[in-house]
Amino acid sequence: MKHDVFDVVVLGSGAAALAAAVSARGHGAARVGVFEKADVVGGTSAMSGGMIWIPCNHHMAATAHPDSRAEALRYLDSLSHGMILPELAEAYVDTGPEMVTWFEDNTPVIFEIVEDFPDYHPEQPGGSTVGGRSLECPLFAFGELGDWAERVSQSRQMSRHVVMNETTLGRGATTTPAADVLAEREAADLRGCGQALVGRLLKACLDRGVEIHTGHRATNLTAADGRITGVEFDTGAGTLEVAARGGVVLATGGFEWNPEMVRDFIRGPLERPASIETNTGDGLKMAMRAGASIGNMQEAWWVPTIDVPNDAGETFAWMVNRERVQPRTIMVNRRGKRFANEASNYNAFGAAFHQLDPGTFEYVNLPAWMVFDQPYLTRSGLARYRGEGPVPDWMVSADSLAELADLCDIDGGGLEETVERWNAQVADLDDPDFGRGRSINDTHWGDGSRTAAATLGPIDTPPYFAVQVRPGALGTKGGPRTNGRGQVLDLDGEEIDGLYAAGNVMASVMGMAYGGAGGTLGPAMVFGFAAGRHAAQQLPSV
Ligand SMILES: Cc1cc2nc3c(=O)[nH]c(=O)nc-3n(C[C@H](O)[C@H](O)[C@H](O)COP(=O)(O)OP(=O)(O)OC[C@H]3O[C@@H](n4cnc5c(N)ncnc54)[C@H](O)[C@@H]3O)c2cc1C
Repeated sequence: MKHDVFDVVVLGSGAAALAAAVSARGHGAARVGVFEKADVVGGTSAMSGGMIWIPCNHHMAATAHPDSRAEALRYLDSLSHGMILPELAEAYVDTGPEMVTWFEDNTPVIFEIVEDFPDYHPEQPGGSTVGGRSLECPLFAFGELGDWAERVSQSRQMSRHVVMNETTLGRGATTTPAADVLAEREAADLRGCGQALVGRLLKACLDRGVEIHTGHRATNLTAADGRITGVEFDTGAGTLEVAARGGVVLATGGFEWNPEMVRDFIRGPLERPASIETNTGDGLKMAMRAGASIGNMQEAWWVPTIDVPNDAGETFAWMVNRERVQPRTIMVNRRGKRFANEASNYNAFGAAFHQLDPGTFEYVNLPAWMVFDQPYLTRSGLARYRGEGPVPDWMVSADSLAELADLCDIDGGGLEETVERWNAQVADLDDPDFGRGRSINDTHWGDGSRTAAATLGPIDTPPYFAVQVRPGALGTKGGPRTNGRGQVLDLDGEEIDGLYAAGNVMASVMGMAYGGAGGTLGPAMVFGFAAGRHAAQQLPSV
């Protein structure tokens, strides 16, 4: 067995891990190692939109809508249902602005507001209807990463060369870059969204001499005298044991790709993880073996997905966050009935899939189908298909609603009735049944017009189409409980010396909620930053 000694050891290489590593190095740790199980770095974070939700961030202070600590906490409390721990929420709201400022002052990780992006439940007490809490990184030139540029995980869904501010979710369609601009960015390898966030974090690591190792799967924590002292890795070429003088940061993502853990812990069907496949709960196991208290285990960052093939023909989970909100589509269950406001926040929508009928003992809304018509496809498109050429085989099409229902095993009469009712309602630009289009959240995610018509429109022009929608997740959000410094707590609520957790591996500060755009990467960055700092400060020589 090989041995090595580090000041701080970080497991994983998503945003939580890289934030922890940069922070540890920046707060005095001389030798910091990042150890990643996959052959690429970046985890799900590099595949993401890259937004971080940070209430009270300093960029907001310069706008017409500054934030306040009290409002941010009021908002989180309103989403809690008793599951958000107030002390952790306070640590999050207090450390978030500090984290943003520290990164901007000390590293290439800089942020700007994603303009006008309201919180996901903007009408809740303390919610923001005007945006400012969601931040993103500007485009980043991947050439600055040298050989690492080719070793970052890639999204199957997000466009590589745009930032959110250039989409309808940010400043809007008017800023969408032209084809020649995109071609220039491609040539210069300028990347946005999660690529920009991870690219900048990676650059910060490389600038500070953080040592990054891929193909290292952490398997066990080592301990002595009641303290976590290091980690054992399976490297493919044998076992490596590494000592950690200051501490070990677990940032290994969730357990969504571990079917047994999903079965044992998660509150209802989670059919399609949309994250990196190496997130199999290794960090959770290590924490449990070390005696950690675990929490929030039933929760995931829920997201409705559809199955589509990638370029290699393999099926993957495409998130229908934007598509299900557009006009001229609804979602129905096997009875052909709508069952929720389709434009609701994607995480909250998970609850609709988990509704169980106590009499029939069936999940009432599974399977679920998105139903739409021809103009929907040409206006909005679905998973890059815009109604041109042959209908892809992952989509069902028919000339009548009755025939469509038959092909999908949906009650035909129910579907016809539902569509008739929907069309009558949307003629008045309202949805009395489920209130779709009444929240600023709904209209924001619609077609860009930001009125009720942004999400309400009839389904009346054949052919008609349907695609099965599945309960997916961006990741799970249960794991070791921590304090506000990212220190893992034991079963008695005491800190386990030398052990930290950040990102989706930890018991999320958000409980069952998703506060706003960046609601998962925000906490990942905040607790990663806090954990790295605290671990560095434990070093004897500092
Ligand atoms: C398309 C898409 C868009 C998204 N957009 C956003 C967004 O804009 N804002 C937002 O807040 N969230 C977004 N999310 C969710 C967000 O990306 C994740 O919640 C977040 O990246 C989790 O970060 P993490 O650091 O905890 O884990 P990850 O980024 O998944 O990193 C975990 C890493 O740990 C590694 N690992 C696992 N086990 C081991 C082991 N034993 N040893 C060593 N390494 C290990 C994994 O290989 C992985 O690289 C999006 C997700 C998707 C799929």
